[in-house]
Amino acid sequence: MSDTLTAASPTLVAARAALKRYYGYDQFRPMQADIIEHILAGNDTVVLMPTGGGKSVCFQIPAVVSAGTCVVVSPLIALMKDQVEALKGNGIAAAYINSSVGSAEANEIAKAALSGHLKLLYVSPEKLLSQGFLQFLGRVNISLFAIDEAHCISSWGHDFRPEYTQLRLLRQTFPSTPIVALTATADRLTQRDILTQLEMREPKVFLSSFDRPNINLIVRPGQDRIGAILDFIARRPTEAGIIYCLSRKTCEAVALKLQQKGIRAAHYHAGLTPVQRAKAQEAFLQDDMQVIVATIAFGMGIDKSNVRWVMHYNLPKNIEGYYQEIGRAGRDGTPATALLFYSFADVMSMREMVTSDVPPKQAELNLAKLERMQQFAEAATCRRKILLHYFSESLPADCGNCDICRSPPTTFDGTELAQKALSAVARARERLSLSLCIDVLRGMRNQAVISGGYDQLKTYGAGRDLPYLDWYSYLHQLLNEGLFYIAYEEGYALKITARGQEVLKGQRPVPLKKFQLAEKAEKLPRGRKAAAAAPAAGTAETQLFEHLRQLRKAIADEAGVPPYVVFTDASLLEMAAEQPTSRVAMLSISGVGMKKFETYGELFIEAILQHGTPRAVPAADGNADADDFGPAPRSAAQKTADRGVNESEQASFDLHLQGLSPEQIAQQRNLAQSTVLVHLERAYGKGLPLRVTDFISETDRANIRAARAQLGGSPPLRDLFDHLREQYDYFRLRLAALADHRAA
Ligand code: ADP
Ligand code: ZN
Repeated sequence: MSDTLTAASPTLVAARAALKRYYGYDQFRPMQADIIEHILAGNDTVVLMPTGGGKSVCFQIPAVVSAGTCVVVSPLIALMKDQVEALKGNGIAAAYINSSVGSAEANEIAKAALSGHLKLLYVSPEKLLSQGFLQFLGRVNISLFAIDEAHCISSWGHDFRPEYTQLRLLRQTFPSTPIVALTATADRLTQRDILTQLEMREPKVFLSSFDRPNINLIVRPGQDRIGAILDFIARRPTEAGIIYCLSRKTCEAVALKLQQKGIRAAHYHAGLTPVQRAKAQEAFLQDDMQVIVATIAFGMGIDKSNVRWVMHYNLPKNIEGYYQEIGRAGRDGTPATALLFYSFADVMSMREMVTSDVPPKQAELNLAKLERMQQFAEAATCRRKILLHYFSESLPADCGNCDICRSPPTTFDGTELAQKALSAVARARERLSLSLCIDVLRGMRNQAVISGGYDQLKTYGAGRDLPYLDWYSYLHQLLNEGLFYIAYEEGYALKITARGQEVLKGQRPVPLKKFQLAEKAEKLPRGRKAAAAAPAAGTAETQLFEHLRQLRKAIADEAGVPPYVVFTDASLLEMAAEQPTSRVAMLSISGVGMKKFETYGELFIEAILQHGTPRAVPAADGNADADDFGPAPRSAAQKTADRGVNESEQASFDLHLQGLSPEQIAQQRNLAQSTVLVHLERAYGKGLPLRVTDFISETDRANIRAARAQLGGSPPLRDLFDHLREQYDYFRLRLAALADHRAA
């Protein structure tokens, strides 16, 4: 990209310092710097970047380094909340106003905006256009308008929001305030609508590459999908993922199958009540639910950066949709997987779906798009090249991170196989569908074969030496080679082309790519419960990662934020590899900014130290307490006599003795309340006289003790929490355990 960074203007210098200070990142990604520079110069800007490309930074950094408030228009309430939480977690003053915010709170926020303290104010379009709100904004010093999900402005696109079309009021009311519009949808018509409807002035359009190189692209045949899914998850027992299905019924059935294998999975579709949906989504964000099985309805409003994989149980209807959905994996930039199941039956039902109840022209377009999707699924060349080509981008070399690149198919002379297939088709007088053709070749005795009399053909059973999936692959290759075509209007019967006739007559050789199953790798021993499988008994590094993940989860639960808001997977992986144990080292981890360091740095450094040195208590394989980052790791530390109370714990504890509540302590010390709770708990664990009854009564303690006994003495904290119907938070549960332990 350009060299703007080396010839840094003062504003970019400030922007870069802010990136480090607030986000803990050393560098802008390609394009971010150019975009920010353009915005800071007061220009209108359009940003087209794929999901996970880093759009937020493009308006948040200008907001941080400019005087005044950046007003962000965003259509998704859940996303707003997430973004504001993430900003606050980074030490940036931000708030949102939408229908979920009460008037008292909204007034507070308005005051903060008027005083100029607020750097970012998120609003829904409805709120923005509501009575008096624009007038109110007239009194705020606005640095920038950011229109997120800007494609919603276009009636052409799939997420059209009528309110968005009124956003031209912004330009009319605030003629001199710059506007930036951001979206992950890059098509030309949408672009044009954004530019004209927002009445942008000499805007510059930044179109970034849509490549997501960290996503491993895999396609496999749609046979035994459930088995393949269970295998896949068993090898990733802690990684979160989404499975997209076409119908609600399939969603429910797949989720149920996973649950039966002990996997924490939930279904999600438009037939659920809003409360049910919110609950499933919340659990997923919080890392309490590993898998969501969803119709396409799921995912629009989520920002979870540690979705590690996305599967398509059914073929999506076009590449745009597919790409948008797989884009929800690996937003943190670390390795992720997209697995697509491909079956011809899906193509057939999809063809019906996309052509029924639409005008002929639209049907034609839909079919053309579906065919491109099918070509992608059947490809024998680098899949990423095909995808990017679809978005008018080219990749200089094969990607090295798709199933085709990873195990390139070998070629063999398939002339004889092709002749067998063609001859079966011809002898059946071109009435065989693809799957029936395979049945005939393999000599199956099912209803369709018998009733058609195909078991009498000379070619019946001529290909019984090959498994179904192999034939399936070869027939598709022959189709793609143009040896026959499918007559959709005749029950999908295969018809031989002139080219196919040449092959039958032995006038044309047919090279074929040997069929191999992607992702078949190491099968787990049968009967082993997938979710119970421990993380790959790995290196010290993966163990430390797991340890840090649990710490993150505990902190997140207490603070009521999703774990990835505490730190991304990318940051934890780097911590596990670098093992930072000093302030400087911790601050050099990507994603650890000043505020994050102040809030959590110490806890993570301590966890790393604790993990690195041999522990006094041998239980320490890091997995025993899988769902229970309870007292276990820390009580191990407590027993090492030399471990005293550290300064920060002492400071929190002293304030507690003075009668301050954790909330007040947090405020006074400028720490997260969750950190204060950890301090208090540790101080208590290390022998200081905490007033336990401030937090939990004797009756409560007895209740908890009884529940523990019922669950067998030392149940995972999560089970205890559920058993007690979420009556006590984790902090209180742990405190009760510590108190009993000390009393014993
Ligand atoms: P988008 O809104 O385009 O989907 P986000 O703004 O959510 O993407 O960014 C995706 C992820 O990339 C986030 O975890 C974000 O913190 C991270 N990120 C953004 N910019 C950078 C950068 N310059 N260096 C490292 N990580 C970054
Ligand atoms: Zn590739």
